[in-house]
Amino acid sequence: MTKNETTDLSGLSDAWDRDHLWHPYTSTINPLPTYKVVSAKGVRLKLSDGRELIDGMSSWWCVIHGYNHPVINEAIKAQLKKMSHVMFGGLTHEPAIELGKMLLQTAPSSMNNIFYADSGSVAVEVAMKMAVQASIARSGSHAKTNFVTIRSGYHGDTWNAMSVCDPVTGMHTAFGTSLPIRYFVESPRVKFGEEWDPRAMDELESTIKEHSDELAALILEPVVQGAGGMKFYHPRYLAEARKLCDRYGLYLIFDEIASGFWRTGKRWASEWAEVEPDIMCIGKGLTAGYMTMSAVMTTKEVADTISNGEAGVMMHGPTFMANPLACATAIASIKLLEVQDMESRVRHIEDMLKRLLAPAAEITGVKEVRVLGSIGVIEMENPVDMASFQRECVNRGIWVRPFGRNVYVMPPYIISDEELTELCTKMIDIVREGAA
Ligand code: PMP
Repeated sequence: MTKNETTDLSGLSDAWDRDHLWHPYTSTINPLPTYKVVSAKGVRLKLSDGRELIDGMSSWWCVIHGYNHPVINEAIKAQLKKMSHVMFGGLTHEPAIELGKMLLQTAPSSMNNIFYADSGSVAVEVAMKMAVQASIARSGSHAKTNFVTIRSGYHGDTWNAMSVCDPVTGMHTAFGTSLPIRYFVESPRVKFGEEWDPRAMDELESTIKEHSDELAALILEPVVQGAGGMKFYHPRYLAEARKLCDRYGLYLIFDEIASGFWRTGKRWASEWAEVEPDIMCIGKGLTAGYMTMSAVMTTKEVADTISNGEAGVMMHGPTFMANPLACATAIASIKLLEVQDMESRVRHIEDMLKRLLAPAAEITGVKEVRVLGSIGVIEMENPVDMASFQRECVNRGIWVRPFGRNVYVMPPYIISDEELTELCTKMIDIVREGAA
């Protein structure tokens, strides 16, 4: 596709934007189209030409209560009047404390200490740093600092986060030898809902056994592998992984950045297995898509081990740590979740997605249709042409951004039955017509 065609496709591109602003994963020479949004409310994005789109992406999975939510808006305004920011070094504030208490009330029971960070990727960096500091302190070995992970994972775009993303579909090849080298084992082969096969742990076990004196931790996304392939795997994998980590002296890190806050139908995806990690990253839905913030939670054992270690402190401290506006937003968002029966709400979305997406399984070129919680995926045999697929979506009033071979939706939880039906029906029409 040429540059001019790209511009014409959207009809809503901004020439200055195209020439000067980098969008995620884009070429400056031949960028994909961008569509200008002027406002958003509920599940709808309003474009500059007045058209409205039903958002199936929750803005990369974080806008869980919809856009422009009056309760969250008010909470931010109230905090803004008090203070928008204050450094967290040597100072503290009520929003950070209140949010921390709320998080520990609902987190796995062994979580005790919270580190507020800037974004999902930074949370992963912090979690990995925690694991390394604690591992050195616990083992007394400066060699026990590497990581093992599963293929098809995605943990973010910063350096160490990138190093544990899938080495083939991730960004490794673009960075040559500059990334730290990690141990990768096969992606969990038993899918969610299938019968458990104990051999599924063989490669992980042999890798951990062989390299335990070099390994600080196992990091993985529990149950749902998101941006690495939209795969759902058997929760038993987590229970078995927990046993292996305990047996060989590794910490277990769960990246719940995408799966947390009810996305899979449980508050935390780890609840499917009733397994507790040593370190846990959360983000995305934490601030309901209003602003960037993440958190890393850990056990008292990890926190104290770091504090008793050589450095004696956790070596990280970002400028915007525990930003009060972000904390106030998260508090309002979690309160909204707590007054609803989220399990039933997400099960309803799941039931609808299963029914609405089922017909796609019969379409030529579709490999598999799968649904878990409020995540609905149509996996194609071949990669999807994102630009033409999105043009069709916009023409029909929906917003879906496929990647690789996956066309999927992860709508805001407030989506109505009618909106969800319209979103899925139109998405399937586009798949059927071959724009995918
Ligand atoms: N971990 C997971 C599981 C994610 O899905 C993402 C984002 N898609 C990240 C980490 C990185 O988060 P962020 O984009 O906020 O840095």
